[in-house]
Amino acid sequence: MNVLVWIRRDLRVTDHPALVRAAALGRVLPLYVADPADWAGPAAAARQWEFVAETLVGLRADLADLGAPLVVRVGRAEEVIARLSRSYRIDRVLCLHRPGHPVPAGVEEVGPDAPLPPPALTPVPGVEPGLIPAARALGLAPDPCPHRQPGGRAAALALAESFAGGRGAEYPAALLSPVGGDRAGSRLSPHLAHGALSAAEVRALLPGKLPPRAARAFLDTLRLPPGQAPLPEGGDSRHLAAFAGAQTGLPLVDACLRQFRATGWLNARGRGVLASVAVHLLGLSVQDAGHVLGRLATDHDPAILWPQMAGLAGASARIANPVKLGQDHDPQGRFTRRWLPELAAVPDSHLHAPWRWEGAGRLLGRRYPEPVVDPTHAARDARDRLGPVRRAWAAPHRTQDLVLVEGTAASRPRPASAQLAFDL
Ligand SMILES: Cc1cc2nc3c(=O)[nH]c(=O)nc-3n(C[C@H](O)[C@H](O)[C@H](O)COP(=O)(O)OP(=O)(O)OC[C@H]3O[C@@H](n4cnc5c(N)ncnc54)[C@H](O)[C@@H]3O)c2cc1C
Repeated sequence: MNVLVWIRRDLRVTDHPALVRAAALGRVLPLYVADPADWAGPAAAARQWEFVAETLVGLRADLADLGAPLVVRVGRAEEVIARLSRSYRIDRVLCLHRPGHPVPAGVEEVGPDAPLPPPALTPVPGVEPGLIPAARALGLAPDPCPHRQPGGRAAALALAESFAGGRGAEYPAALLSPVGGDRAGSRLSPHLAHGALSAAEVRALLPGKLPPRAARAFLDTLRLPPGQAPLPEGGDSRHLAAFAGAQTGLPLVDACLRQFRATGWLNARGRGVLASVAVHLLGLSVQDAGHVLGRLATDHDPAILWPQMAGLAGASARIANPVKLGQDHDPQGRFTRRWLPELAAVPDSHLHAPWRWEGAGRLLGRRYPEPVVDPTHAARDARDRLGPVRRAWAAPHRTQDLVLVEGTAASRPRPASAQLAFDL
């Protein structure tokens, strides 16, 4: 029997039940399809493809070692699969089940995760492997990301080892700030998002290595369910260009956006602050705000992004105060000044609200923009807009301990969903 294994966001040979099943059934044709339609989406970016392409190089070598090199094609996945099925007498098409990523008719999903060693493979003979395309061949615009994490299984394993072997000891305390966590976070998200290693493999690496509290917190994060969520409507996106260009005039926001742009990564709290500011203070639609954040992320995964956006924009959302957050988490501006050198002359006392500084006239509108909104007024307007929704939502949810107005840490709402809670 000839079995085609369609590899999507599972770019690995270990812990791959579909490959194991296929190997047991007969000859195997492992296929990756780069579909230009997927890469034309509003949250797609060359940084994501370049990461995937680096991972595919290693995957091709790993599959060749097992006996059946990876076949890569560019085109619509259903059409490519149908064409190969006709040409090579494919009897069955398998792929790994992945929540939030449905498959077309005729493709059988295999799952769930269960760490499995890679199988030996007998190839379907005579299939031309095909080139791994460059980003521009998929229609992707140049997208400089000078500090992007490298793709590939070897890089993923090195990160997992260094996290379990030391970096992770500060987890998750170092992630409580929107400006932290580059070291104490696992940084595994792009590898997990594209499946260079599985969550089950990461779990298997941890025992006895991380301090128990850090291990518990990390495993809880890793277990957060991806999925789909209905998005709230609304927003006029007048300030979209300022947000997308990291030119909002709100220093913490622009610094977070610039880190995200240069590295392809920002910790979860930083992303939460950006989403909240974009939707509540700048009035962007959830979709537009999500597309900006998705494009910046090497780990872009719609099944994580959109439930997060829905939670941060919905009825139980809190409204981030970027001035106070900046003052609390970056009082001397180590983070903010690194990404916004144009603010070098602003004293610490005014760094997060430079429009209140007496020297503002020399800076704003010249080297750094005026704030596109007054954050205090914008927060008041957002609370007024959300008020009726929150009251309607609060009544039936009172028993779930939801407090729906910003307040002290003690009175802040807990999310109804399993997604992360942000102390904004
Ligand atoms: C608005 C917003 C958008 C986001 N978009 C994405 C996205 O497109 N892709 C993505 O991988 N993460 C996304 N996240 C979740 C989170 O920000 C990143 O996973 C995290 O910053 C990655 O860093 P890390 O690998 O060091 O994470 P760690 O803190 O080390 O977490 C370990 C792993 O758990 C998973 N994880 C973390 N947070 C979540 C979550 N909330 N839901 C489900 N799984 C989670 C990731 O795979 C991550 O690598 C988003 C969060 C927010 C608030």
